[in-house]
Amino acid sequence: MSLLVVGSVAFDAVETPHGKVDRMLGGAATYFSVAASFFTHVNLVGIVGTDFTEKDASIFKGRKVDTLGLERADGKTFFWAGKYNENMNDRTTLATELNVFAEFKPKLPGPYQSSQHVFLANIDPTLQRSVLHQVSKRPKVVALDTMNYWIERTPKELRETLKHTDILMINDSETRQLSNEHNLLRAARHIFTLGPKALVIKRGEYGAMLVHQNRTFHVPAFPLEQVHDPTGAGDTFAGGFMGYLASVPRAGDAELRRAMVYGSVMGSFTVEKFGLERLRTLKRSEITARAKHFQKMTHFAL
Ligand code: AMP
Repeated sequence: MSLLVVGSVAFDAVETPHGKVDRMLGGAATYFSVAASFFTHVNLVGIVGTDFTEKDASIFKGRKVDTLGLERADGKTFFWAGKYNENMNDRTTLATELNVFAEFKPKLPGPYQSSQHVFLANIDPTLQRSVLHQVSKRPKVVALDTMNYWIERTPKELRETLKHTDILMINDSETRQLSNEHNLLRAARHIFTLGPKALVIKRGEYGAMLVHQNRTFHVPAFPLEQVHDPTGAGDTFAGGFMGYLASVPRAGDAELRRAMVYGSVMGSFTVEKFGLERLRTLKRSEITARAKHFQKMTHFAL
């Protein structure tokens, strides 16, 4: 089953305590697509400028990523710059240049319109909804990511889009901000009144938490001696999570739990190197090995 994603394809400048890169391929939809393509076929909707070369596009070649929906426009590709602090839990955004993204009107090619799984990466909630409108039948699973910018500036539009969302995937501070609740379980209860039936809270080095049907499930982040660059970890998590869900016939409790593990597994690879470097060379066998490691790491007897 194919999985539709809409979101940014970007160039990033990133500085962490382990190094600095002035310009590298990035974007939420890029991390998501590459990660998800290890599990299922991905249809990518996004926009790039004339500075996006064949070499940049080669990240998608030889993978199960369809780029028919990746529009090319006159102008420059979306650019984002960020700097991480010493412990790498916090980052400061130094620049966000929308460029061709400012005029983006997502258009779904015909074959994408029957998608059963949809991931709306962090973009304007109105654009997210316009993508959903173009899908012919109600998808089986719609998941959405957003950020403080949209929670603060376009709360009405975000709420409208959330009505059509099954799974909300955000970080803990966004969860608190959206719900006005500090306690994450109370926050989840509030968020369920807005539309989503499940909430995935991404917690960086502390792993991730799933809340649905009065149950919670937690996965740790894979313990690594060195994290080089956390950029894209959340989108890679979402790619592993949704990629796995799209590869199985139903999304019950057991599948959602496994999806959480695959999300965390994929995120743990991304942070090992800068940008998409680690995902480029990743093999399916390494994913399976790390998932087994997760199983051992979290097993206990009573
Ligand atoms: P993450 O670290 O998972 O939050 O994702 C980082 C990626 O999101 C980077 O590659 C950026 O290009 C992209 N990004 C940053 N800010 C935005 C934004 N406002 N809209 C869309 N994508 C963004």
